[in-house]
Amino acid sequence: MPGWRTYFPIVQQRVRARAFRALFLFVTSRCNSLCRTCFYFDKLNSRDDLTFDQIRRVAETAPPFEKLWLSGGEPFLRDELAEIVALFARHNGIRNVNLPTNGLLPERTFCAVDRMLELAPDVSIDLNFSLDGLANTHDAIRGVPNNFRRTMATIEEAEKRYKGVRRLRRNVLTVITSENYREIVELGMRLAGEAKIDGQYFETMRGNAPDSSLKQITREQVADLHRRLMPFHEHYATKLFAHLPAGVRQFARMYYLGNLRLHFDLHESCFDRPSKWPMPCTAGETTIVIDHNGRFRSCEMRETVGDLAAFGYDVARALDSEAMRAEVEAIATANCWCTHSCFIQESSKFAPRVQLFSIPWAWMRHRWRRLPDIPATELERFRTLEVS
Ligand code: SF4
Ligand code: SF4
Repeated sequence: MPGWRTYFPIVQQRVRARAFRALFLFVTSRCNSLCRTCFYFDKLNSRDDLTFDQIRRVAETAPPFEKLWLSGGEPFLRDELAEIVALFARHNGIRNVNLPTNGLLPERTFCAVDRMLELAPDVSIDLNFSLDGLANTHDAIRGVPNNFRRTMATIEEAEKRYKGVRRLRRNVLTVITSENYREIVELGMRLAGEAKIDGQYFETMRGNAPDSSLKQITREQVADLHRRLMPFHEHYATKLFAHLPAGVRQFARMYYLGNLRLHFDLHESCFDRPSKWPMPCTAGETTIVIDHNGRFRSCEMRETVGDLAAFGYDVARALDSEAMRAEVEAIATANCWCTHSCFIQESSKFAPRVQLFSIPWAWMRHRWRRLPDIPATELERFRTLEVS
Protein backbone atom coordinates (compact mmCIF):
# COMPACT_ATOMS: atom_id res chain seq x y z
CA MET A 1 0.00 0.00 0.00
CA PRO A 2 1.70 3.27 -1.06
CA GLY A 3 2.17 5.72 1.84
CA TRP A 4 2.73 9.45 2.05
CA ARG A 5 6.36 9.00 0.97
CA THR A 6 5.08 7.84 -2.41
CA TYR A 7 2.60 10.68 -2.89
CA PHE A 8 4.71 13.46 -1.36
CA PRO A 9 7.11 13.94 -4.33
CA ILE A 10 4.10 14.13 -6.69
CA VAL A 11 2.48 16.84 -4.53
CA GLN A 12 5.83 18.57 -3.94
CA GLN A 13 6.41 18.85 -7.69
CA ARG A 14 3.05 20.59 -7.97
CA VAL A 15 3.67 23.39 -5.49
CA ARG A 16 6.94 25.27 -5.89
CA ALA A 17 8.47 28.71 -5.52
CA ARG A 18 8.98 30.74 -8.71
CA ALA A 19 12.50 30.15 -10.09
CA PHE A 20 14.23 29.75 -13.42
CA ARG A 21 13.13 26.35 -14.73
CA ALA A 22 13.31 26.07 -18.50
CA LEU A 23 15.46 27.16 -21.41
CA PHE A 24 14.16 27.13 -24.98
CA LEU A 25 17.02 26.86 -27.46
CA PHE A 26 16.66 27.02 -31.23
CA VAL A 27 19.71 24.86 -31.93
CA THR A 28 19.71 25.55 -35.67
CA SER A 29 17.82 27.49 -38.29
CA ARG A 30 18.45 24.76 -40.86
CA CYS A 31 15.38 22.88 -41.98
CA ASN A 32 14.52 20.34 -44.66
CA SER A 33 10.73 20.91 -44.52
CA LEU A 34 8.47 23.61 -45.94
CA CYS A 35 5.67 23.60 -43.41
CA ARG A 36 2.82 26.00 -44.11
CA THR A 37 2.25 26.13 -40.34
CA CYS A 38 5.78 27.28 -39.43
CA PHE A 39 5.96 30.44 -37.27
CA TYR A 40 9.78 30.47 -37.67
CA PHE A 41 9.74 30.26 -41.50
CA ASP A 42 11.24 33.74 -42.06
CA LYS A 43 14.32 32.82 -40.02
CA LEU A 44 15.00 29.38 -41.49
CA ASN A 45 18.23 28.39 -43.25
CA SER A 46 19.92 31.67 -42.41
CA ARG A 47 23.48 30.41 -41.76
CA ASP A 48 24.02 32.29 -38.51
CA ASP A 49 23.55 29.52 -35.94
CA LEU A 50 25.24 29.89 -32.57
CA THR A 51 28.58 28.08 -32.48
CA PHE A 52 29.21 25.20 -30.10
CA ASP A 53 31.48 27.43 -28.01
CA GLN A 54 28.79 30.10 -27.74
CA ILE A 55 26.30 27.45 -26.59
CA ARG A 56 28.87 26.16 -24.12
CA ARG A 57 29.06 29.70 -22.67
CA VAL A 58 25.25 29.74 -22.44
CA ALA A 59 25.33 26.50 -20.42
CA GLU A 60 28.17 27.72 -18.21
CA THR A 61 26.38 30.95 -17.30
CA ALA A 62 22.75 29.80 -17.03
CA PRO A 63 21.46 29.02 -13.52
CA PRO A 64 20.54 25.41 -12.74
CA PHE A 65 17.27 24.44 -14.42
CA GLU A 66 15.18 21.36 -15.08
CA LYS A 67 13.93 21.39 -18.62
CA LEU A 68 15.63 22.02 -21.95
CA TRP A 69 13.23 22.60 -24.84
CA LEU A 70 15.16 22.26 -28.11
CA SER A 71 13.73 23.71 -31.28
CA GLY A 72 14.73 24.92 -34.73
CA GLY A 73 14.75 24.39 -37.74
CA GLU A 74 15.06 20.63 -37.61
CA PRO A 75 17.11 19.98 -34.45
CA PHE A 76 18.69 16.80 -35.86
CA LEU A 77 20.38 18.86 -38.59
CA ARG A 78 22.50 20.41 -35.84
CA ASP A 79 25.94 18.85 -35.49
CA GLU A 80 26.97 17.90 -31.95
CA LEU A 81 23.35 17.82 -30.78
CA ALA A 82 24.05 15.15 -28.14
CA GLU A 83 27.08 17.07 -26.94
CA ILE A 84 24.93 20.19 -26.55
CA VAL A 85 22.45 18.28 -24.38
CA ALA A 86 25.36 16.87 -22.37
CA LEU A 87 26.62 20.43 -21.76
CA PHE A 88 23.33 21.38 -20.12
CA ALA A 89 23.25 18.12 -18.15
CA ARG A 90 26.73 18.78 -16.81
CA HIS A 91 26.49 22.51 -16.09
CA ASN A 92 22.82 22.99 -15.24
CA GLY A 93 21.61 19.60 -14.03
CA ILE A 94 18.72 19.37 -16.51
CA ARG A 95 16.36 16.45 -15.94
CA ASN A 96 14.51 16.41 -19.27
CA VAL A 97 15.05 17.43 -22.88
CA ASN A 98 12.22 17.94 -25.32
CA LEU A 99 13.11 17.30 -28.96
CA PRO A 100 10.70 17.96 -31.82
CA THR A 101 11.51 16.34 -35.18
CA ASN A 102 9.99 15.97 -38.62
CA GLY A 103 11.25 12.36 -38.66
CA LEU A 104 12.92 12.71 -42.07
CA LEU A 105 16.48 11.99 -40.92
CA PRO A 106 16.47 8.57 -39.27
CA GLU A 107 20.23 7.99 -39.40
CA ARG A 108 21.13 11.35 -37.88
CA THR A 109 18.34 10.99 -35.32
CA PHE A 110 19.32 7.55 -34.06
CA CYS A 111 22.99 8.45 -33.99
CA ALA A 112 22.30 11.58 -31.90
CA VAL A 113 19.78 9.87 -29.59
CA ASP A 114 22.14 6.92 -28.94
CA ARG A 115 24.87 9.35 -28.02
CA MET A 116 22.52 11.48 -25.88
CA LEU A 117 21.46 8.41 -23.89
CA GLU A 118 25.12 7.66 -23.31
CA LEU A 119 26.39 11.19 -22.56
CA ALA A 120 23.47 12.32 -20.41
CA PRO A 121 22.50 9.25 -18.36
CA ASP A 122 20.30 11.18 -15.89
CA VAL A 123 18.27 13.03 -18.50
CA SER A 124 14.95 11.79 -19.82
CA ILE A 125 14.20 12.52 -23.46
CA ASP A 126 10.88 13.36 -25.09
CA LEU A 127 11.25 12.71 -28.81
CA ASN A 128 8.27 14.29 -30.55
CA PHE A 129 7.55 13.32 -34.13
CA SER A 130 5.38 15.77 -36.06
CA LEU A 131 2.42 14.23 -37.86
CA ASP A 132 -0.25 16.66 -39.05
CA GLY A 133 -2.71 14.34 -40.77
CA LEU A 134 -2.98 11.20 -42.83
CA ALA A 135 -0.57 10.76 -45.74
CA ASN A 136 -1.83 13.23 -48.38
CA THR A 137 -2.81 15.92 -45.89
CA HIS A 138 0.40 15.67 -43.90
CA ASP A 139 2.56 15.86 -47.03
CA ALA A 140 0.57 18.82 -48.37
CA ILE A 141 0.83 20.77 -45.10
CA ARG A 142 4.55 20.10 -44.67
CA GLY A 143 5.57 20.46 -48.32
CA VAL A 144 7.57 17.24 -48.53
CA PRO A 145 6.51 14.33 -50.79
CA ASN A 146 6.22 11.00 -48.93
CA ASN A 147 6.82 12.77 -45.62
CA PHE A 148 4.11 10.75 -43.82
CA ARG A 149 5.44 7.39 -45.01
CA ARG A 150 9.02 8.32 -44.11
CA THR A 151 8.14 9.64 -40.66
CA MET A 152 6.05 6.53 -39.88
CA ALA A 153 9.05 4.39 -40.93
CA THR A 154 11.29 6.37 -38.55
CA ILE A 155 8.75 5.91 -35.71
CA GLU A 156 8.68 2.16 -36.38
CA GLU A 157 12.46 1.94 -36.41
CA ALA A 158 12.64 3.97 -33.18
CA GLU A 159 10.29 1.46 -31.58
CA LYS A 160 12.60 -1.40 -32.54
CA ARG A 161 15.72 0.38 -31.30
CA TYR A 162 14.43 1.90 -28.07
CA LYS A 163 11.71 -0.45 -26.89
CA GLY A 164 11.96 -0.72 -23.11
CA VAL A 165 14.16 2.41 -22.74
CA ARG A 166 11.93 4.12 -20.19
CA ARG A 167 13.74 7.46 -20.18
CA LEU A 168 13.13 7.91 -23.89
CA ARG A 169 9.48 8.73 -24.60
CA ARG A 170 8.44 8.60 -28.25
CA ASN A 171 5.49 10.90 -28.89
CA VAL A 172 3.61 12.39 -31.81
CA LEU A 173 2.73 16.07 -32.00
CA THR A 174 -0.16 17.16 -34.21
CA VAL A 175 -1.05 20.74 -35.09
CA ILE A 176 -4.77 21.24 -35.63
CA THR A 177 -5.54 23.16 -38.84
CA SER A 178 -8.46 23.80 -41.19
CA GLU A 179 -7.09 21.13 -43.55
CA ASN A 180 -6.61 18.28 -41.11
CA TYR A 181 -9.15 18.62 -38.31
CA ARG A 182 -11.62 16.22 -39.91
CA GLU A 183 -9.09 13.39 -40.02
CA ILE A 184 -7.21 13.85 -36.74
CA VAL A 185 -9.37 11.28 -34.93
CA GLU A 186 -8.61 8.80 -37.71
CA LEU A 187 -4.90 9.63 -37.44
CA GLY A 188 -5.11 9.10 -33.67
CA MET A 189 -6.81 5.71 -34.18
CA ARG A 190 -4.13 4.64 -36.59
CA LEU A 191 -1.30 5.69 -34.31
CA ALA A 192 -2.88 4.14 -31.22
CA GLY A 193 -3.32 0.88 -33.14
CA GLU A 194 -0.13 0.66 -35.20
CA ALA A 195 2.59 2.87 -33.78
CA LYS A 196 4.00 1.92 -30.41
CA ILE A 197 4.25 5.50 -29.17
CA ASP A 198 3.93 6.86 -25.63
CA GLY A 199 1.65 9.81 -26.30
CA GLN A 200 0.06 12.04 -28.90
CA TYR A 201 -0.30 15.75 -28.18
CA PHE A 202 -2.30 18.37 -30.02
CA GLU A 203 -1.60 22.06 -30.58
CA THR A 204 -3.45 24.81 -32.37
CA MET A 205 -1.48 26.93 -34.86
CA ARG A 206 0.30 29.91 -33.39
CA GLY A 207 2.23 32.92 -34.61
CA ASN A 208 2.51 34.14 -38.19
CA ALA A 209 2.68 31.21 -40.58
CA PRO A 210 3.15 31.22 -44.37
CA ASP A 211 -0.42 30.02 -44.94
CA SER A 212 -2.87 31.79 -42.64
CA SER A 213 -5.82 29.98 -44.30
CA LEU A 214 -4.84 26.95 -42.22
CA LYS A 215 -6.09 28.85 -39.17
CA GLN A 216 -9.59 29.11 -40.55
CA ILE A 217 -11.47 26.86 -38.22
CA THR A 218 -13.81 27.94 -35.47
CA ARG A 219 -13.39 27.70 -31.75
CA GLU A 220 -16.46 25.40 -31.67
CA GLN A 221 -14.85 23.02 -34.16
CA VAL A 222 -11.67 22.95 -32.08
CA ALA A 223 -13.67 22.34 -28.88
CA ASP A 224 -15.63 19.52 -30.51
CA LEU A 225 -12.41 17.93 -31.72
CA HIS A 226 -10.79 18.27 -28.30
CA ARG A 227 -13.66 16.34 -26.72
CA ARG A 228 -13.11 13.54 -29.20
CA LEU A 229 -9.34 13.58 -28.61
CA MET A 230 -9.47 13.10 -24.83
CA PRO A 231 -9.89 9.30 -25.20
CA PHE A 232 -6.47 9.20 -26.88
CA HIS A 233 -4.96 10.85 -23.83
CA GLU A 234 -6.73 8.26 -21.67
CA HIS A 235 -5.33 5.48 -23.82
CA TYR A 236 -1.76 6.73 -23.44
CA ALA A 237 -2.20 7.53 -19.74
CA THR A 238 -3.03 3.86 -19.18
CA LYS A 239 0.25 2.87 -20.84
CA LEU A 240 2.31 5.62 -19.27
CA PHE A 241 1.49 4.82 -15.66
CA ALA A 242 1.05 1.06 -15.93
CA HIS A 243 4.26 0.45 -13.95
CA LEU A 244 3.08 2.42 -10.88
CA PRO A 245 1.36 0.88 -7.83
CA ALA A 246 -2.46 1.07 -8.14
CA GLY A 247 -3.16 4.05 -5.84
CA VAL A 248 -0.33 6.18 -7.23
CA ARG A 249 -1.32 5.22 -10.75
CA GLN A 250 -4.81 6.66 -10.24
CA PHE A 251 -3.37 9.85 -8.78
CA ALA A 252 -0.80 10.31 -11.58
CA ARG A 253 -3.43 9.56 -14.20
CA MET A 254 -5.79 12.13 -12.71
CA TYR A 255 -3.11 14.84 -12.86
CA TYR A 256 -1.99 13.89 -16.34
CA LEU A 257 -5.51 13.95 -17.78
CA GLY A 258 -6.59 17.00 -15.77
CA ASN A 259 -3.51 18.87 -16.97
CA LEU A 260 -4.14 17.99 -20.60
CA ARG A 261 -7.82 18.91 -20.29
CA LEU A 262 -6.78 22.27 -18.81
CA HIS A 263 -4.48 22.82 -21.79
CA PHE A 264 -7.37 22.07 -24.15
CA ASP A 265 -9.58 24.52 -22.18
CA LEU A 266 -6.99 27.28 -22.59
CA HIS A 267 -6.43 26.46 -26.28
CA GLU A 268 -10.16 26.95 -26.74
CA SER A 269 -10.53 30.11 -24.67
CA CYS A 270 -7.48 31.77 -26.32
CA PHE A 271 -8.11 30.35 -29.79
CA ASP A 272 -9.32 33.53 -31.50
CA ARG A 273 -8.71 36.19 -28.85
CA PRO A 274 -6.63 36.55 -25.69
CA SER A 275 -8.36 35.26 -22.59
CA LYS A 276 -6.80 35.34 -19.13
CA TRP A 277 -5.14 32.12 -17.91
CA PRO A 278 -5.86 30.97 -14.35
CA MET A 279 -2.22 31.82 -13.50
CA PRO A 280 0.22 34.59 -14.44
CA CYS A 281 2.45 33.85 -17.43
CA THR A 282 6.01 33.49 -16.13
CA ALA A 283 7.75 33.86 -19.52
CA GLY A 284 11.03 35.75 -19.20
CA GLU A 285 11.22 35.04 -15.50
CA THR A 286 11.19 31.26 -15.19
CA THR A 287 12.06 30.72 -18.86
CA ILE A 288 14.07 32.26 -21.67
CA VAL A 289 13.89 31.64 -25.42
CA ILE A 290 17.20 31.79 -27.30
CA ASP A 291 16.92 31.97 -31.07
CA HIS A 292 19.37 30.15 -33.35
CA ASN A 293 21.49 33.32 -33.66
CA GLY A 294 21.61 34.24 -29.96
CA ARG A 295 18.83 36.80 -29.94
CA PHE A 296 16.65 36.21 -26.90
CA ARG A 297 13.00 36.65 -26.05
CA SER A 298 10.65 35.93 -23.18
CA CYS A 299 8.54 33.62 -25.35
CA GLU A 300 8.30 32.65 -29.00
CA MET A 301 5.26 34.86 -29.57
CA ARG A 302 6.85 38.10 -28.43
CA GLU A 303 9.49 40.36 -29.93
CA THR A 304 13.24 40.06 -29.43
CA VAL A 305 14.40 41.53 -26.12
CA GLY A 306 18.14 41.55 -26.79
CA ASP A 307 21.15 39.78 -28.27
CA LEU A 308 23.24 37.44 -26.13
CA ALA A 309 26.33 38.66 -27.98
CA ALA A 310 25.95 41.97 -26.14
CA PHE A 311 26.13 40.06 -22.84
CA GLY A 312 29.10 37.86 -23.79
CA TYR A 313 26.59 34.95 -24.10
CA ASP A 314 26.06 35.17 -20.34
CA VAL A 315 22.44 34.08 -19.81
CA ALA A 316 22.32 35.09 -16.15
CA ARG A 317 23.16 38.67 -17.18
CA ALA A 318 20.59 38.60 -19.97
CA LEU A 319 17.91 37.36 -17.56
CA ASP A 320 18.83 40.06 -15.10
CA SER A 321 19.05 42.82 -17.72
CA GLU A 322 16.95 45.94 -17.60
CA ALA A 323 15.43 45.01 -20.95
CA MET A 324 14.29 41.61 -19.68
CA ARG A 325 12.94 43.08 -16.47
CA ALA A 326 10.97 45.62 -18.50
CA GLU A 327 9.67 42.79 -20.71
CA VAL A 328 8.49 40.78 -17.70
CA GLU A 329 6.71 43.84 -16.36
CA ALA A 330 5.14 44.46 -19.76
CA ILE A 331 3.83 40.89 -19.99
CA ALA A 332 1.86 41.37 -16.78
CA THR A 333 -0.38 43.91 -18.54
CA ALA A 334 0.09 42.94 -22.19
CA ASN A 335 -3.09 40.85 -22.52
CA CYS A 336 -1.19 38.52 -24.88
CA TRP A 337 -2.75 35.31 -23.47
CA CYS A 338 -2.04 32.62 -26.04
CA THR A 339 -2.39 28.89 -26.73
CA HIS A 340 1.30 28.06 -26.31
CA SER A 341 1.31 24.78 -24.38
CA CYS A 342 4.97 24.94 -23.33
CA PHE A 343 4.37 28.24 -21.54
CA ILE A 344 1.02 27.15 -20.13
CA GLN A 345 2.86 24.15 -18.72
CA GLU A 346 5.83 26.12 -17.40
CA SER A 347 3.66 28.87 -15.87
CA SER A 348 1.24 26.44 -14.21
CA LYS A 349 4.12 24.85 -12.29
CA PHE A 350 4.32 27.97 -10.13
CA ALA A 351 0.63 28.37 -9.46
CA PRO A 352 -0.50 26.28 -6.45
CA ARG A 353 -4.13 27.19 -7.14
CA VAL A 354 -3.86 25.66 -10.61
CA GLN A 355 -2.05 22.58 -9.35
CA LEU A 356 -4.34 21.96 -6.39
CA PHE A 357 -7.64 23.14 -7.82
CA SER A 358 -7.79 23.86 -11.58
CA ILE A 359 -6.16 20.61 -12.71
CA PRO A 360 -8.19 18.27 -10.45
CA TRP A 361 -11.31 20.27 -11.38
CA ALA A 362 -10.52 19.94 -15.12
CA TRP A 363 -10.17 16.21 -14.59
CA MET A 364 -13.51 16.00 -12.78
CA ARG A 365 -15.27 17.94 -15.53
CA HIS A 366 -13.71 15.62 -18.06
CA ARG A 367 -14.96 12.57 -16.17
CA TRP A 368 -18.48 13.94 -15.91
CA ARG A 369 -18.87 14.86 -19.53
CA ARG A 370 -16.77 12.13 -21.08
CA LEU A 371 -19.26 9.36 -21.77
CA PRO A 372 -22.10 11.32 -23.37
CA ASP A 373 -19.67 13.16 -25.67
CA ILE A 374 -17.94 10.18 -27.24
CA PRO A 375 -19.80 8.40 -30.02
CA ALA A 376 -20.39 4.81 -28.97
CA THR A 377 -18.58 3.49 -32.05
CA GLU A 378 -15.39 5.31 -31.07
CA LEU A 379 -15.65 4.15 -27.48
CA GLU A 380 -16.00 0.55 -28.60
CA ARG A 381 -12.90 0.86 -30.70
CA PHE A 382 -11.03 2.26 -27.73
CA ARG A 383 -12.11 -0.58 -25.52
CA THR A 384 -10.67 -2.98 -28.07
CA LEU A 385 -7.39 -1.07 -28.16
CA GLU A 386 -7.05 -1.03 -24.40
CA VAL A 387 -7.63 -4.76 -24.11
CA SER A 388 -5.19 -5.73 -26.86
S1 SF4 B 1 7.65 23.72 -38.46
FE1 SF4 B 1 9.64 22.83 -37.95
S2 SF4 B 1 9.98 21.26 -39.54
FE2 SF4 B 1 8.39 22.64 -40.30
S3 SF4 B 1 9.48 24.19 -41.54
FE3 SF4 B 1 9.26 25.01 -39.45
S4 SF4 B 1 11.13 24.44 -38.41
FE4 SF4 B 1 10.99 23.16 -40.24
S1 SF4 C 1 0.84 34.68 -22.53
FE1 SF4 C 1 1.68 33.71 -24.37
S2 SF4 C 1 2.34 35.42 -25.69
FE2 SF4 C 1 2.06 36.24 -23.62
S3 SF4 C 1 4.09 36.12 -22.70
FE3 SF4 C 1 2.99 34.26 -22.11
S4 SF4 C 1 3.56 32.73 -23.67
FE4 SF4 C 1 4.11 34.76 -24.46
